[in-house]
Amino acid sequence: MIKVHIRFYEELNFFIRPEKRKQLIERHCKEGTTVKALIETCGIPHTEVDLVLVNGESRGFSYQLENNDRISVYPVFESFDIGKVSRVRPAPLRVIRFILDVHLGKLAKRLRLLGFDTLYSNTYTDEELSELSKKERRIILTRDTGLLKRKIITHGYYVRSRDPKEQLFEVIRRFDLFHSLKPFSRCIQCNEVLGEIRKDKIEQQLPDKVLEKYDRFYSCKRCNKIYWLGSHWKSMKKTLETISGNQHYL
Ligand SMILES: [Zn+2]
Repeated sequence: MIKVHIRFYEELNFFIRPEKRKQLIERHCKEGTTVKALIETCGIPHTEVDLVLVNGESRGFSYQLENNDRISVYPVFESFDIGKVSRVRPAPLRVIRFILDVHLGKLAKRLRLLGFDTLYSNTYTDEELSELSKKERRIILTRDTGLLKRKIITHGYYVRSRDPKEQLFEVIRRFDLFHSLKPFSRCIQCNEVLGEIRKDKIEQQLPDKVLEKYDRFYSCKRCNKIYWLGSHWKSMKKTLETISGNQHYL
């Protein structure tokens, strides 16, 4: 057995028991244990980690621990300037796409409402979620830290809040998506891209009340659902503007 010391920085402390937060933690492990395995036995999914320093030098997840190593673990934090030292993750994904676990159905709908390519099904197994995430380069959003510990997953995020509305803001803030919102560009039901449709083409299908009040409509070519800028959308727009400091992103 060897003895090492490890410290977690910033938001990674979310995963640590309160009495151990922000402290140098002593751990005993077998010689040859990887730093990834150590981090995860401390309860932190590797997808939350961006930088690992061992005795002051940046190391990859496969680094094998030695006696008396001192390890500093930093979260994924885009504006944190780590300069020349190398990050443990591959390059960030250029196009933000998500896949959500079976418990995040409401969040999936909200993300689609704002135009984000979001795969969701309440029948996905952990294997399917991991495979799809890798194959389609999608960020997994989940409240299951076990899922994020799978080696195959490189981009994932543990959603802290339990409230779907707060979860949406959390994801937008975390991935800094305020400038990427494209409301009414994607079907909430099936994730297909929406197109604008002329009012006279859909008059037969909508109640008079809606036709009197609205002029712009969007339709999904896969499931034929029709959308308009109703009150639900307006309240979300208002809330988003409030949390983003009243800036008009939409
Ligand atoms: Zn659809």
